[in-house]
Amino acid sequence: MQFKTVLGIALVVCLYFAPALFDRVILPVAAPYLPGAKVPPPGYEASSSPLGTPPATTGSTAFVLQESPKEGQPFVAYDPCRPIHYVVRPDNAVQGGDILVREAIAAASQASGLQFVYDGTTTEAPADDRQAFQPDRYGKRWAPVLIAWSTPAESPGLAGDVAGNGGSGYAQAPGQPLVPLVLAAGQVRLDAPDLGGIIASRPDGTAEVRAIIMHELGHVLGLDHVDDPAQLMNAKNMGIMDFAAGDRAGLALLGAGPCVPQL
Ligand SMILES: [Zn+2]
Repeated sequence: MQFKTVLGIALVVCLYFAPALFDRVILPVAAPYLPGAKVPPPGYEASSSPLGTPPATTGSTAFVLQESPKEGQPFVAYDPCRPIHYVVRPDNAVQGGDILVREAIAAASQASGLQFVYDGTTTEAPADDRQAFQPDRYGKRWAPVLIAWSTPAESPGLAGDVAGNGGSGYAQAPGQPLVPLVLAAGQVRLDAPDLGGIIASRPDGTAEVRAIIMHELGHVLGLDHVDDPAQLMNAKNMGIMDFAAGDRAGLALLGAGPCVPQL
């Protein structure tokens, strides 16, 4: 019986979940920081030039950027001139999960040139309406990317075949329509029971779980699903354990967004 359950998970694990629109709510426009403000003071940690450089790619076009919520904005990306902070909510984590997260982050950083900073663990639970600015918890800056080992009970979006989901909020400086939208305060929810089952039941389960985390980080950084089954950003994983040429081209583009110190 137990075996049957594990086998069932193995067969459907390939399904990923696109970031829902509620993961990409339009944040209040930036304004000078005041107590009680909904956004942080502008320019936190903003450098005058990108902190890293995306690697050269094959020029593959096998990727899809998330649709820009604003007409005339070609795409939405994180600001490459400041680090992307992230925290991990470790409750329910699979064995070795901390290492898998670190490896997935390293892979996303390498492919995009974006620089990540680990801020440690958090007790913050994932939420559909997660606040992008939580000064009491994280200080006067955009909330870090939250990576949460969750369960379908906590996150109904993980019910059934869904192994994880991910996305980011976005922000725009006020009164400056030409200033690009910028991603902020991303969130990844991982289905810990499903992923633990994969590790326990499949010889390459560890690599598969790492690939699932990488896929969700692709959503956090601005990639949508692509039809090509040879890419990690396909909605169903067909045994792809690493970013492929199209994924890498997309991530390199998303790592080359404009710097937006106004936010
Ligand atoms: Zn997905």
